[in-house]
Amino acid sequence: MRRSAPDRGRTLLGPALALIHTGRAPTRSALTSALDVTRATAGAVSGELEALGLITVDSSPAGGGRGRPSHRLAIDPAGPVVIAAQIHADGLSVALAGLGGRLEQPVHLPLPGATDPVRLLRAVARTGAELARASSRRCLGSALALPNPVTEPDGTALAALHFAWPSGTPVADLFAEQMRKADLGPGVPRPFPSAVANDANLAALAEHRHGAGRGARHLLLVTSGHRGVGGALVIDGRLHTGSAGLALEVGHLTVDPQGRPCQCGNRGCLNAETDPDALFAAAGRTPDPERPLFAQARELAGSAAEDPDALAAVERVVDRLGLGLAGMVNILNPDRIVLSGLHRDLLAAAPERLASVVADRCLWGRSGRVPIVPAEVGHAGLVGAAELAWEPYLHDPQAVAAS
Ligand SMILES: [Zn+2]
Repeated sequence: MRRSAPDRGRTLLGPALALIHTGRAPTRSALTSALDVTRATAGAVSGELEALGLITVDSSPAGGGRGRPSHRLAIDPAGPVVIAAQIHADGLSVALAGLGGRLEQPVHLPLPGATDPVRLLRAVARTGAELARASSRRCLGSALALPNPVTEPDGTALAALHFAWPSGTPVADLFAEQMRKADLGPGVPRPFPSAVANDANLAALAEHRHGAGRGARHLLLVTSGHRGVGGALVIDGRLHTGSAGLALEVGHLTVDPQGRPCQCGNRGCLNAETDPDALFAAAGRTPDPERPLFAQARELAGSAAEDPDALAAVERVVDRLGLGLAGMVNILNPDRIVLSGLHRDLLAAAPERLASVVADRCLWGRSGRVPIVPAEVGHAGLVGAAELAWEPYLHDPQAVAAS
């Protein structure tokens, strides 16, 4: 049944903005059919989003077409932004981000000498505030991606081993406090919205909305960045984070009981068997301590075609990764797996081998043939943080006007 009553338009604002934000409604006729409403309702909804300064509606003829032009819908390039930030083992990254998964040029900073939570979060907040003050676009909120588990709903950081933060650090409260103290310039919402989440979860959200996960219903993302391994699951467009935000801690899945020691005290966890250190160990090489480990590991994986030691190392690590993925496939039955970070490079170096290890271990032929694809979104942690910061406005676009 078609919805046509004019007052339905308000409740359609959020779904309409989400469709335009994720590129699924590039024209008003696409919006009309995606929302299953009349042309008049879609026109009213897109008109209101345009009036809120969020999208542009272009009704000029596209050229060559006949009949009535379908109005082209796009994110307003002068529209509001949010602050997206990420803390990782090698430093801080901060960027402004508009809707549509569009980051402005990120700023990368080395970690400050002291990495206690307050100092790090203050550096993030100050950098974000500088970007916001320098921009002519309104800034509506902020969010931060962290390389450790973050509990829900209270937002404490667990096992923040990279920085030796005390487990249970109230990182959401501390970040909110630093954003409150930062000089964001005039015209920002007060209180200024802020949020924190785990980086793998946010990368999965970014891939689902803007990258290799688009259209997947049960998307599993597995990634190895600078240290360790993260995972995330998006079901029907929403992150599955478990009862306390701690689901998909895939890094401690055992893939070799006699394997390398893991920081958790066990041996042979996916963390310890498939991260950059593991690849170097498998190749019998030592990384240059003067250069970022992650970049060197990517180069090592990329040299597998011409370097027999690198190929042997890739195959060993791919076999362990395949064991881990097969275990997850048997439990979760995803319809797509996106590999990110170093795992993306391992997939590129040995795609058939990885697919066959997974298929051999899967209980049903059908689940074992799940597509395993490389991540597509650059700076996915930042893009995902932007998704988190945009969440209240995607839910209720009129909040833009109220703020
Ligand atoms: Zn472990």
